Amino acid sequence: MSDTQAGAAGAGAEIFLAEPRGFCAGVDRAIEIVERALLKFGAPIYVRHEIVHNTFVVNDLKSKGAIFIEDLADVPLGSTLVFSAHGVSKAVQAEAQARGFDVFDATCPLVTKVHVEVAKLAKEGYEFIMIGHKGHPEVEGTMGQLQSGIHLVEDVADVARVQPLQTERLAVVTQTTLSVDDASEISAAVRRRFPSVREPKQQDICYATQNRQDAVKMLSPKVDVVIVVGSPTSSNSNRLAELARKLGVDSYMVDSADELQPQWLAGKTRVGLTAGASAPEILVKAVIDRIRSYGAVSVRKMDGIQETVKFPLPKGLRLAAGIQLGDGSRLHQGPPLLDDAYDSQEPEA
Ligand code: SF4
Repeated sequence: MSDTQAGAAGAGAEIFLAEPRGFCAGVDRAIEIVERALLKFGAPIYVRHEIVHNTFVVNDLKSKGAIFIEDLADVPLGSTLVFSAHGVSKAVQAEAQARGFDVFDATCPLVTKVHVEVAKLAKEGYEFIMIGHKGHPEVEGTMGQLQSGIHLVEDVADVARVQPLQTERLAVVTQTTLSVDDASEISAAVRRRFPSVREPKQQDICYATQNRQDAVKMLSPKVDVVIVVGSPTSSNSNRLAELARKLGVDSYMVDSADELQPQWLAGKTRVGLTAGASAPEILVKAVIDRIRSYGAVSVRKMDGIQETVKFPLPKGLRLAAGIQLGDGSRLHQGPPLLDDAYDSQEPEA
């Protein structure tokens, strides 16, 4: 490679793909719920909040007849309504019931698990410290499982300020898509201040968040820059870019290939690529194509955990035997799309 080529954006570069990346089982299920509802009941299908935090996914579903709303007052009587993967508060559930909507709940089962735990412990008299990001819909949904008694902490400094009414029965819950390292630092601060605090048997941060962060930890030392495909609202995508930066690698998030800035790749010969849990593989493919158009010469998949988690669909959305969903362009089908885009597997050290 000449000096000129080496300096040009992406010229001669190798692309290293993190594994796993992109859609998790909860996102896959949530999108499939909307697609099946559209097929079974016809458009429009109303969805409370973005079904998952990804612009491409939301626009795709809009084009198929989904209408995204925040306020249930905007949903006409008799409509079919889907709750997003992030979950909803008891108040939203009650309002949907009072308005008589036909509801399908696309809340990720791993978020529901946290809701169930909160309800169970609250009955036993527990108060909660929730580790999460203020204003995130999942946090609002989980905190809204109770009328009161859940205190949000966003960082270690908040732990010093939190004022539970009692400390004998205090439990910790976390948002599922946090930085594993930050959450464990905040949990440690909670334990120091409240030594008898009850912690979940298995942490609330989900397998998909953990696996994608582990993959970025493996990827980052091997590359000069990490590109994360994900929307700005996606918590787990933001955490991936943040993590790469903490590991000393430049990192940028893109919502689509069009957002890729050639100067980010100038002089970089090893480009890492991953995607948040709500970003479809079709966008990863488009980013690969764009980097190839700059002159990247190979795409290699890293080794990593093969995820096999699959969550069942709500009963009312199972299709009659023989009916196929969609035409092969469905978003909830992930990684196989890309196999012909890879050149080889694990990079040399
Ligand atoms: S990121 Fe985790 S909690 Fe969120 S939808 Fe996916 S599996 Fe569920």
